[in-house]
Amino acid sequence: MQTQSHTNSYYAASVGDKTDFAPLRGEQRADICVIGAGFTGISTALHLAERGYNVHVIESNRVGWGASGRNGGQMIGGIAGENHVAKHYGKDVEDLFGDLRWAGHDIIRKRVQQYGIQCDLKSGYLDVAIKQRHLRDIEANYERLANADFPHEIRVLSKNETSELIGTDVYIGSFLNMGNGHLHPLKLCVGEARAAVLEGATIYEQSPVIDIEHGRKVRVVTEKGAVTADTVVIAGNAYHALERKLRGIMFPVKSFIIATERLSKSIVNRINPQDLAICDPNFVLKYYRLSADKRLLFGGRINYFGEDPEFIKRKLRQKMLSIYPVLESVGIDYAWGGTIGVPITRVPQLGRVASNVFYCQGYSGHGVNVTHLAGQIMADAVAGTMEQFDLFANVKPFSVPGAQRFQKPMVALGILYYQIKDRL
Ligand SMILES: Cc1cc2nc3c(=O)[nH]c(=O)nc-3n(C[C@H](O)[C@H](O)[C@H](O)COP(=O)(O)OP(=O)(O)OC[C@H]3O[C@@H](n4cnc5c(N)ncnc54)[C@H](O)[C@@H]3O)c2cc1C
Repeated sequence: MQTQSHTNSYYAASVGDKTDFAPLRGEQRADICVIGAGFTGISTALHLAERGYNVHVIESNRVGWGASGRNGGQMIGGIAGENHVAKHYGKDVEDLFGDLRWAGHDIIRKRVQQYGIQCDLKSGYLDVAIKQRHLRDIEANYERLANADFPHEIRVLSKNETSELIGTDVYIGSFLNMGNGHLHPLKLCVGEARAAVLEGATIYEQSPVIDIEHGRKVRVVTEKGAVTADTVVIAGNAYHALERKLRGIMFPVKSFIIATERLSKSIVNRINPQDLAICDPNFVLKYYRLSADKRLLFGGRINYFGEDPEFIKRKLRQKMLSIYPVLESVGIDYAWGGTIGVPITRVPQLGRVASNVFYCQGYSGHGVNVTHLAGQIMADAVAGTMEQFDLFANVKPFSVPGAQRFQKPMVALGILYYQIKDRL
């Protein structure tokens, strides 16, 4: 099986600390074996290692190679599909989840401080409105957070205030939330991997898992070795293709990002002087922010399954210029894509394929926050505390017949459906 190095992203070029953990060789023994070294896998491993478990993490490629090292870096509160879960239990979202909706942020902030992880973490986030119904959602969100004594600054901004803040008049209002923020996701993932190793975890890179042998002990097999563990956590998300029971319950949806060349001070002051992460509310959405070295990182979904940077640049540049024509003469240095796991109900999928084999996947576009919460929940579950795990596991995922075989046309149709819905 072929292993891969990082995609040619701004993040890979600026990560500084490049991991080079040895591949798995020979027979190894662990309490817990985690498959996949993205945020889910690394976060779970770090929680477990901190509690004294002997954890081994096996990664096909490199730490953060998947969505975790390629994403928009937007630290967004809330859990995708939370309304569906609340409906399942017949409860209000706030009553059911409470602080859990922001728990991932707290875990990230604590780890950044505790382990001295340099990942360009910043506070400040703007949800922008395109249609009247978005303004109504913003008002409702504001009320909800204000009533719950949200501990960070929140403000509803008018069209003019929004335009002054982010130098574009394409939005009709916005919601400023200083509890959300943004960061360099690959630096965070690598920093957490280093912390996990410091706490005693073992990480293997360039070691695709090719088989999971179930039993009282589980043997996780790669080409040149195996880890036998009491418990396994599958954290391969949209890149995992091994376990049959996980097929067809989640769609792999591509999202793409371009990074401009460094912007001049005057452009930065014009388009985002407060260094906020910005996101629109559409399903086929646009999201953008500045990097620490003042590039615009601009992301969005396009109906494309390839990796050609020139194609991605062309498509996303058009979208970027529709918001910021002032960037017409600014060059694009990087373009890349990655795959997001999107369940039909949008509810993150936490469950088991056997009594001692857990899985955790499908956060849609909210993975930075929710993977960190999920890591904690998985560590609790492995240690025998099931309450939060069951909250999600009891909401059974929908499975779509033929989803595996007809993935691309189904995803393309889905995107078209949501594009039309976004326009209504
Ligand atoms: C372009 C893009 C932009 C995004 N923007 C944002 C954003 O701004 N904010 C936000 O909150 N979320 C965002 N997301 C979503 C977020 O990145 C994901 O939800 C999150 O990173 C998922 O983490 P993960 O660890 O579950 O999966 P991944 O990071 O995809 O990691 C899975 C890992 O498992 C490994 N693996 C799979 N199969 C095997 C195997 N058989 N053997 C060994 N290893 C295996 C893979 O190699 C991979 O490294 C974005 C995603 C993309 C792609």
